[in-house]
Amino acid sequence: MKAKLMILPYNLRCDISRCSNKAKYSIGNPDSSKATHFHLCESCLKELAETFPDELKPIKEVIKEVEKIVERVIEKKVPVQIENKKKGR
Ligand SMILES: [Zn+2]
Repeated sequence: MKAKLMILPYNLRCDISRCSNKAKYSIGNPDSSKATHFHLCESCLKELAETFPDELKPIKEVIKEVEKIVERVIEKKVPVQIENKKKGR
């Protein structure tokens, strides 16, 4: 693994511009020098995670797994009761 999010065991400032919080996490290659790691506070990491494009969000993987299960159910023609709310309109 070349890129990893790690807990920062040192007392350093967040590297995000205009943020003066204490860094809690570091991002970088765990096999490389700590000087190459980027430090982030909890608040900036959360903000960063919110800006991730949908295709990079872990939830997508969960949805894919659910879709696989649904496909299997459909293939086996297992009766699944789903209320059709649009019916009758
Ligand atoms: Zn920060």
